[in-house]
Amino acid sequence: MSVELRPMGITCNIACMYCYQNMHRDAGNGHSGYDLALIKHKLELLDEPFHLFGGEPLLMPLSDLDDLLGWEYNRNGKTSVVTNGILITEEHARLFKKYNTSVGVSIDGPGELNDIRWAGTLEATRKATAAAIQNIDRLLRHGIIPALQVQVTKCNSSAAKLPLMFEWLRQLDEKGIVSMRLHILEIDNPEVRKHYAFTPEENIEVFEQYLALEKTLGHLRFDIFTDMKQMLLATDQEATCTWRACDPYTTESVTGMDGQGRMSNCGLTDKEGINFQKPDDQGYERYIALYHTPQEHGGCKGCRFFLACKGQCPGTAIAGDWRNKSENCSVWKYFFTLHEKNIQHEGRIPLSLHPQREQLEKEMLQQWTQGVNLTIASLAAAYKQYIK
Ligand code: SF4
Ligand code: SF4
Repeated sequence: MSVELRPMGITCNIACMYCYQNMHRDAGNGHSGYDLALIKHKLELLDEPFHLFGGEPLLMPLSDLDDLLGWEYNRNGKTSVVTNGILITEEHARLFKKYNTSVGVSIDGPGELNDIRWAGTLEATRKATAAAIQNIDRLLRHGIIPALQVQVTKCNSSAAKLPLMFEWLRQLDEKGIVSMRLHILEIDNPEVRKHYAFTPEENIEVFEQYLALEKTLGHLRFDIFTDMKQMLLATDQEATCTWRACDPYTTESVTGMDGQGRMSNCGLTDKEGINFQKPDDQGYERYIALYHTPQEHGGCKGCRFFLACKGQCPGTAIAGDWRNKSENCSVWKYFFTLHEKNIQHEGRIPLSLHPQREQLEKEMLQQWTQGVNLTIASLAAAYKQYIK
């Protein structure tokens, strides 16, 4: 586990229209100031590493950033930060190099492709985007290869925009960027859905093009596709939280901590804009219920991809209700089917077609009933049988 440390709370230098923290902003929550000594004390009690998160963590004064990253580096030999990239200076890049920092940059593309990440006016937005793009190069000059996080929207991936987007991705590939997380937009706002989100059918079409592009790239990989293949091969030890039966009330992959050392969950499940307290025990009721609920009623009953997908992230559940499966179900089914075929062509048996799939499902359900959430890899190993 890595603690998602938010010293600046949800304070940010821009105002992305789709940001899942907007509900907290609307509710007036998430601005608590920070106390570095208190944060360190709490982190020591937890004995866990952290990654700096926001809002925008680089709004912290450089001296405090130096203090915090230096402290973490002395504990763990490495550090991590997720930023929109706009505020990175030479001093930041030097700190990141000094403290062996993994840098994640959230950006949806250059120029107009990033307009949804709004900075108040069009001019300010384009200026902020240009700074972030230049700062990716700055990091590379310092020998830091950032991992990028991109929301796939009509703003950067419509038919008119995709050529520009792919040109940028090819440039990044040539520059040595190796990892990009592509997100299907998580939607909490009807206006965002109306103007920027793709329908599931459109998402399939667009993500197919990303998949085709990936095959032509030298280094750059989109982790969404890697993850899906791993899930079907039961090699899911490193897979993203969205495939791993996340309890919406404890979000075991994300432990948030604010500037006063208070714990919270992943913001994607906070649909009310409230940081509910983090319970000690986890529950897997969502996954037991999804397994038994017919698909036409928001469940996953009978889906051969259930072990791999598990209804996906509760933050993307139909109608914002975590009891339902992901509203992107048809997209996941489409790409799982594609990966399933590819795995078969490689002469292997995907989990979805394995003769013991139903037995493994029952065992997984049994484990969830007891409050245990295994990876498929460890579940399959316990069965001492699996895919060659
Ligand atoms: S709510 Fe979704 S993104 Fe957040 S930890 Fe759970 S699975 Fe991951
Ligand atoms: S593909 Fe759809 S039905 Fe199947 S497990 Fe995922 S969300 Fe559920």
